[in-house]
Amino acid sequence: MQWKSQLHDLKAYQPGKTMEDVKEQFNLEKVVKLASNENPYGCSPKVKSFISSAAASHAIYPDGYAKQLRMKVAGHLSVEPQQLLFGNGSDEVIQMVSRALLDHTKSTVMAAPTFPQYKHNAIVEGAEVREVPLDGEGRHQLGKMLDCVDETTAVVWLCSPNNPTGEYIRKEELIDFLDRVPSGVLVVLDEAYFEYVTAEDYYDSIELLQTYPHLLVTRTFSKAYGLAGFRIGYGVGSMDVISKLEPIREPFNNNSLAQGAASAALEDQEFIKECRKLNRNGLRQFYEFCEISGVRFLKSQANFILIDFGVSGDEVFRYLMSKGYIVRSGEALGYPQSVRITVGSAEQNEELISLMKEFLALARQY
Ligand SMILES: *Cc1c(COP(=O)(O)O)cnc(C)c1O
Repeated sequence: MQWKSQLHDLKAYQPGKTMEDVKEQFNLEKVVKLASNENPYGCSPKVKSFISSAAASHAIYPDGYAKQLRMKVAGHLSVEPQQLLFGNGSDEVIQMVSRALLDHTKSTVMAAPTFPQYKHNAIVEGAEVREVPLDGEGRHQLGKMLDCVDETTAVVWLCSPNNPTGEYIRKEELIDFLDRVPSGVLVVLDEAYFEYVTAEDYYDSIELLQTYPHLLVTRTFSKAYGLAGFRIGYGVGSMDVISKLEPIREPFNNNSLAQGAASAALEDQEFIKECRKLNRNGLRQFYEFCEISGVRFLKSQANFILIDFGVSGDEVFRYLMSKGYIVRSGEALGYPQSVRITVGSAEQNEELISLMKEFLALARQY
């Protein structure tokens, strides 16, 4: 068969071990997964009551335009309904953007390490990928990224807070970047962790859309809203950008139940507020552990933290897994001596922290 040549070296997404696998392998009663930045508190009770009462006929196609959800999100963000593009997760929004704008004649610019789907999709489309290393603090180097933009560049990807570092782009830096990047380049600002941000100097990306029509903001119901299993994410941009992307979208990409669940979730902003607060407390538990134990870490605006143990991340990962805690090794994330930990409940964090102390005590004996 005549596969695209760029597919030869491309690997399929490697799912982590399931909780069941780990339970069996290590003979454990309980396994806690803090590896994929899901919400440890699940989702709003409003979603649960919607699901148990959902009477929609499953024999009919969903509303392809997701009208009800669209109106709700538009109202929530104070944008026009035509400024929204819904995807099967924001993953699909990334795919649609790539499909619409990238091919073998184009280049695309992104940070490294960052969320891997920008690069993955760019490769599938045959575009040249230009990666700019994060600085030592895990932050985007926007000036250097701008230097990589030329007449072939179609998309620049920004991730803030960035996965896997948790760092965010400062308001002044972002505005300066948007002022300088050519208006023919689409700037995608991935805000998958927006709801967790508490930094004072974080920008208002939705407001920026009024000044910068070449900006596309992406958000998701998978993280703080606790609906990762439902696969709903969206892009917010100028009507012009969205109207170009809409024809790329599959007609029924968001299923009926998921649309309803996301609508119900959006109504419960108290839940989001509470999760943001609990997440902040959880991060403090980890900061304190790192400071006491003398391990390096990055301050996070998201619901995860990258901790540098100074040894192979795989080793830390394996130790914690054998004790029933699944985290992400930094080896595959571009930080080989770190692990990325999703902030769990206070109790989960505490348990995990005592395991990490155990690990350090063992490691430091040698
Ligand atoms: C989790 C994540 C996404 C994908 O979210 P979905 O909406 O579930 O597809 C996108 N970007 C970043 C940075 C993420 O961490």
